[in-house]
Amino acid sequence: MQEMTYRLTTDLRRLSFENHDNCVSCGHAFQEGDTSHLGYDQNDKPLYVCDSCSGSLKETSIRHYFTPRPYEIPDQETKLWRYMDFSKYVSLLSSKAIYFTRTDCFEDLFEGAKGIRKNKERWNYHYLEFFKSAIKNSPEGHMCELPEEQIEKDAQRLLKEMEMGGEAHKKRTFVNCWHESEHESEAMWRLYSSFLANAVAIRTSYKGLYESLGRDPSINIGRVKYIDLNKNYAGPNDAFWRKRKSFEHEREVRALLTDMKYKGEGKLIPCDLSLLIEDVFVSPHAPEWFIHLVNDINEKYSIKVKVSRSELIEEPFL
Ligand SMILES: [Zn+2]
Repeated sequence: MQEMTYRLTTDLRRLSFENHDNCVSCGHAFQEGDTSHLGYDQNDKPLYVCDSCSGSLKETSIRHYFTPRPYEIPDQETKLWRYMDFSKYVSLLSSKAIYFTRTDCFEDLFEGAKGIRKNKERWNYHYLEFFKSAIKNSPEGHMCELPEEQIEKDAQRLLKEMEMGGEAHKKRTFVNCWHESEHESEAMWRLYSSFLANAVAIRTSYKGLYESLGRDPSINIGRVKYIDLNKNYAGPNDAFWRKRKSFEHEREVRALLTDMKYKGEGKLIPCDLSLLIEDVFVSPHAPEWFIHLVNDINEKYSIKVKVSRSELIEEPFL
C-alpha cells in the first residue's frame, strides 16, 4: 500500500468536496465505512477514487473512511433568500464580503446543541456504552486486557472530552444563514428586518452562493434538518446541521466554516457579489424614495441588478 503524502492542493480538496459521495473514476457510491482515496494520477491530475480504482493513483495523499455528509445539498438552482436591514445591505456591498456569525453569538441557545438537557442522561449512557464497546473491541491481533474499572474510567474520560469539545466547537464554528424558497415570504420580511419599511432581500441560488464564495472546499453549504429533540439527538458531527422542529418555518440553508484560531465574534468572507446577487427586492412597506436609494447605492457599488418592489404589494381583484 502506498505511503500517504498528505499533499492536498486546493484542486484535490475541491474535487473530493464536490464529488463527496462518489468515486470520480467509476461512479461507485461510497457506503459508510468504505475507504476513499485522495491523490494524483501519473500526470499529477487530482483523483478521488474507491478501492477498485485506487490503482490509478501515482501518489496517495490521504485515505478516509467514508462518512456521509451530515447535511443535504440543495439542487444547484434552488432559490435562497436573505432578508436584512438596509444597513446590513450596505455593509455587504461595501465590504464585498459575507458575514459569518460565531455560533455562540446566536440568540438560539440550542445552536450546535446535541439534545435537551433533561434527556442528557440517556445521551450520556448511549455514548458511554459506545466508548466502552470501542475500548473492549480492540483491532484484530490485539487483546484488550484492561480491567472493567479501567474501561469505565477511560470511557468516562472520553465522554468528558466529547462534552468539552462541544463547548469549544461553538466558538470555532461560523455560520451564514439563508432561507430556501421559490417565493418571497411575508413572515421572513417581519422576522429579519427590525424596521420593515427599510428592509431589503437578496435572492441567490445554491450555485450562486457556492460560486460567489470561490467554490471554497472549506465552506460547507447545506440544508438544516429539523428534528424533534424530545425523541432524537444530534450526533457529534450533526449538531450544527440540526435544529428544533419549532424553527421549521425558517427552511434554512447555511454556509458553515470552522476556524480554530480566529477569536472574533464573526468573520467576513470575501464574496463575488456579481455571482451572489441575482435579484434585489425591497420591503412591501417601503416608500418610493427607498427604492431610489437602493438603486443609487447599487449603482455606486456597480451592482447591475434591477431593484424590484416586493411582489407582496400587488393589488388583488375581488
Ligand atoms: Zn471507482
